[in-house]
Amino acid sequence: MPKNYMIGNWKMNQSLTEIETFFKNVKLEDNQNNFWIAPQTLHYSKCAELAGPTGVLVGTQNISDQEQGAFTGEISADSLMEMGGHFCLIGHSERRSLYGETDEFINRKVAKAIEKGLVPVLCVGETLAEREANNTLSVVLGQLKSGLKDISLNNEAELIIAYEPVWAIGTGKTASPEQAEEVHAAIRVLLEELYGETGKDISLLYGGSVKPSNVKELLGQTNINGGLVGGASLKAEDFSALCSAC
Ligand code: PEP
Repeated sequence: MPKNYMIGNWKMNQSLTEIETFFKNVKLEDNQNNFWIAPQTLHYSKCAELAGPTGVLVGTQNISDQEQGAFTGEISADSLMEMGGHFCLIGHSERRSLYGETDEFINRKVAKAIEKGLVPVLCVGETLAEREANNTLSVVLGQLKSGLKDISLNNEAELIIAYEPVWAIGTGKTASPEQAEEVHAAIRVLLEELYGETGKDISLLYGGSVKPSNVKELLGQTNINGGLVGGASLKAEDFSALCSAC
């Protein structure tokens, strides 16, 4: 069975005071190392320190495809491991659209993360125009095939996939549970083709305006194994509610 996860993507949000308030108030039931937060990289250490007693695991929103050296502004996978990091988001739609990240670049980052022992949360998703042109599955499966090119896995825990329709991110518009499940089911088939039995157990998260009021219906779908959440992960009460649903 795939493990369920709830992952908060804090993007470029949260002051130090807000972070302290968050970790003071977050309440997690039945924590199985499956509640994760990706803060701004600058806040990684503070979050890791405050998250310790709560059991929340901390990662980053991005990672470099390079080993080390003259790469100004990049985040080294080795350094994140040294700091006790667990995971990194890769290929978030904001990285793809605002910073021009290509599938090939994303594929190199996935390879680097796995090589170093970090869990990549590989994000894929179609734009509204692509959905309206009936290209959702070809776009999403194409992003996955390219992002996972030549990536081999020892077990299902080494990779997480997040399906995030671009039109649902930060817009308040959520994919219906049926729309999300249709894509997740197609992703599951592809993962089984690529990874056999292991592919059956890789966790598939849904992202796009997930909140406490819609999370249960989404998680009730066969192939939805948790959420990647932006806005609703910023407040301890909402994140706690999302984790309980998980
Ligand atoms: C995200 O940033 O990955 C996301 C899904 O954001 P939101 O939950 O705010 O739509």
